[in-house]
Amino acid sequence: MTTDRDYPTAPREGDAAAHTIADAGPATPAMATTADLLRMPILVLEQTEQAGAPVTPLLHDIGFLNVEYCDSLHDALVVLDRLNFDLIICNLGETASYRQQLLHNLRTDHRWKNIPVMIVADQDEEDFDTLTEARASGTADVLFHPLRRAELMSRVFLALNLKHEHDLADQREMQLENQIRELNSMERQLGYLVWHDELTGLFNRRRLDEEIEAAIRAANQHQHTAALISIDIDQFRLINMAEGYQAGDRLLIEISHEIRKLCQPTDTVCRIGADEFAVLRHDADIQIGQLLAQEIREVIERHQIEFGELPYQCTASLGLTMIEAGESERPEDILNRANQAFRTAKRQGRNAVYLYNPLNSEIDSLRKQAYWANRIRLALTENRFRLMFQPIVPLQGEPGQRYEVLVRMLDGSGQLHSPAEFIKAAEAAGMIHSIDKWVSGKAIDILSEMDPAVRFCVNLSGHAPEDPSLLSHIEGRIQRSGIDPARLTFEITETAPSSDFQQTVTMVKRLKALGCGFALDDFGSGYNTFCYLRELPFNEVKIDGSFIRHLTDKPVDQSLVRAMVDAARALDLKTIAEMVEDEDALSLLKQLGVDYAQGYAVGKPSLSLPGVSLDRFY
Ligand code: C2E
Ligand code: MG
Ligand code: MG
Repeated sequence: MTTDRDYPTAPREGDAAAHTIADAGPATPAMATTADLLRMPILVLEQTEQAGAPVTPLLHDIGFLNVEYCDSLHDALVVLDRLNFDLIICNLGETASYRQQLLHNLRTDHRWKNIPVMIVADQDEEDFDTLTEARASGTADVLFHPLRRAELMSRVFLALNLKHEHDLADQREMQLENQIRELNSMERQLGYLVWHDELTGLFNRRRLDEEIEAAIRAANQHQHTAALISIDIDQFRLINMAEGYQAGDRLLIEISHEIRKLCQPTDTVCRIGADEFAVLRHDADIQIGQLLAQEIREVIERHQIEFGELPYQCTASLGLTMIEAGESERPEDILNRANQAFRTAKRQGRNAVYLYNPLNSEIDSLRKQAYWANRIRLALTENRFRLMFQPIVPLQGEPGQRYEVLVRMLDGSGQLHSPAEFIKAAEAAGMIHSIDKWVSGKAIDILSEMDPAVRFCVNLSGHAPEDPSLLSHIEGRIQRSGIDPARLTFEITETAPSSDFQQTVTMVKRLKALGCGFALDDFGSGYNTFCYLRELPFNEVKIDGSFIRHLTDKPVDQSLVRAMVDAARALDLKTIAEMVEDEDALSLLKQLGVDYAQGYAVGKPSLSLPGVSLDRFY
C-alpha cells in the first residue's frame, strides 16, 4: 500500500521537476506541463468544521497556485460568477443537499457546464448512492475520505488534464468554425467577383461575354435581336491625373449608378475596362438601341460631380452594334465592333453615339493590312514584283519617247495586283522603302538597256524622303548603269503623307543635283499645291486625272486645266495630263497648251517595252 510519503511533493511553479514530468510525454502542443496544471484555478467548496480532512491545505501543499476556497453555496456562486475555474472540488461531507444544489446550478448554467466537478464524499456515505448521483450530474470524479495527498494529486492532475484537453478541443473547434466561416465568406466573395466588378458592383467582362453568347443564340434560333452599347468616358485619364485616382474611382462609381438607374433589370450592365462600360439589351431593335445609347450619353453629360469646390462634368463616347439573326462572330469580336464604333465617335469629336458600320471597320482594314503585309514580304523575297510601262506622248512636238513606270505585284497564282491594293499596307508595315528601292533600281537597269532617247517617270512614295539610304541607292545604280540621270523623272505626290517637308526638300534637291527631273503628281488634288510648287524645284506637273477624265463634257474642268497650265507656265514648268481616255480630250488638251498626255487614249500600261526583252530583269 502506498502512503502519502511514497509520492513526491508536486513541484511548484518554476521547479525543474515541473518540466521533467511534462517533458516525459510526447511533445505535442496540446499537452499541458505540470507547471501549467499547477497554475490552473481550482475552486474548493468545503466547511472548515466538517469531518474529514479539508482539501484546500492539501492542494496548497501539493503546489497548486490558484486555489479559491468557499464555505457556502452562495459564496461559491458569487465567486464563480466573477472568476474562471478549471476544477471544482466539492467537499461538503454530510451537507449533501448543498452539493446537489451546487451540481444543479453548475450543470444548468452554460458558463459553468464544462467545469469538471470532483466530489469528496464521506466514507460513511452510501458509496453506491453517491456514485449514482455523481454520474447523473456529470461529475468527473469521486474521492472518499480519508484523503491521501498522493491520490488527490494524481486525480486532480487527471481532471485538470482532461479539462485542458477539452478546452483545447473547444478552441480548435472554434478555430475550425471560424475558418469555415471565413472560407464560406471568401467563397461567396470569389463567387461574386467571378461575375462582378469590384469597384462598381456592376457585372464584369466575363458576364458580358456569357450574355452576348446568349444573345447570339437568341438571334440565331429565335430571330431576337439585341443591342450592345459600349461606353468610354472621354478623357478619363485627365481626371485621374488632375484629381487623383480616388476621384477617378468616385466618378466611375457615380456614373455606374447613373447608367444602372437608366437600365431595365433585364439589361446586362457591365464595367469592362478602366473607364469602359457596356450595356447589353436583349430583345431590342436598332431604334431602341440608339435611344438607350443616347439616354446614357445624356445622363453622363448631365451628371455633376464635385472634386473639392469644383463641380465637374464629363462626357462619354458610345458605340452601338446589333446582334441579329445570322450572327457569326464570337462575343469578343462583337464587343470589338461596339468598341470600334465608340472610337469612331471619339474621332468625330466625342460625346456622341456611333452605330457600327462594317464598311467603316477598323478591324477589317487591319486584317486586310496584315494579309497584304504577308504577301508583300513574300513577293519581295521571291522577286515577284513587276513593272508596267505606260507611254507619255508629247502634244507640242517635244522629241523623245517617255513612259511612266508603274509597279505591280504578281501573286502565287500569276495574277497581277495594282498598287491601290498593297501600297497602303506596305506603308503601314514599313515595307514601302523596299518597294521604292526595287522599283527605282529596276527602272534604272531597264533604262540602261534602252535607246538613249527613252525617258522614264518613276513614282516615289510619300515615305521615300524618310529613307536615308534611298538617295545613295539611286546614285549608286545610276553610276553603275552609266545612264544619263536626265532620262529619269521622279514623281512625288502632294497628297502622300510625307512626314517631314524638309526631308522632301532635301531629297528633291539632291536628286535634282544629280541631274534627274522631278514632277508633282496628281497636281490640283491636294491642299498645298502651290506651296509645294513654290518650295520645291519641280520640272513638271502632272495634272490630276480627275480634271481630265470628263474634260470634254465639263467646261469647269476646262477652265481649271487652263488655269493650271497658266500657273505652270508662269513657274516655267511643263504639264502632263494623266488619264486621257479619248481622242476629243487629247485634242482639247493640245489646244489648252498641255505639253504631254498619258492615258488609255494614248496607250495602256503594259508589261513589255518595244525593242527590249524584260524577262532577264526579274
Ligand atoms: P499615278 O502615278 O497617278 O498613276 C496613274 C494611274 O492611273 C495608274 O494606276 C495608271 O494605270 C492609271 N491610268 C493610266 N491611264 C489611265 C486612264 O486613261 N484611265 C484611268 N482610269 N486610269 C489610268 P496604277 O498603276 O494602278 O497606279 C496607281 C497609283 O499607284 C499611281 O498613281 C501611283 O501613285 C502609285 N504607284 C504606281 N506605281 C508605283 C510605284 O512604282 N511606286 C510607288 N511608290 N507608287 C506607285
Ligand atoms: Mg504617277
Ligand atoms: Mg497621278
